[in-house]
Amino acid sequence: MFFIFGWNRPSITEYGPVKQELCYHCHNTEMWHLRKISRYFTLFFIPIFPHDSEILYLCPICNHGIQLSMADFESYKEIAQVNKACLENQITEEERAEKLDKISADVKKRQEERNLQDLEKSKSGLPLLQENLPRN
Ligand SMILES: [Zn+2]
Repeated sequence: MFFIFGWNRPSITEYGPVKQELCYHCHNTEMWHLRKISRYFTLFFIPIFPHDSEILYLCPICNHGIQLSMADFESYKEIAQVNKACLENQITEEERAEKLDKISADVKKRQEERNLQDLEKSKSGLPLLQENLPRN
């Protein structure tokens, strides 16, 4: 009996246009796209589970772009979904603007919460640090 397995079968998910950006590579101003590449562990060529993923934010013309963190991915994904719904005439331009405002407000709130958490962490870390110092 033998098994055929592999580690790097990529699966690409396109989320659609996010924001208009000036590309640093081809110098075109276009709606950049969000793309996720997941690499799967495969058994007999069947994808079993993803072991690695990459979130890319790309220029649609030259495919150059940046890699995003998981936290940014969630909000970019929401924006892409709203834009896509508008392109497919599921929502109006006004609804799109309203939804995008809400998303950016949420992003700002999350960032503030993160900053606050960092501040709390640095505060709580301080007494520990002092305890570890040699006493005179
Ligand atoms: Zn480009």
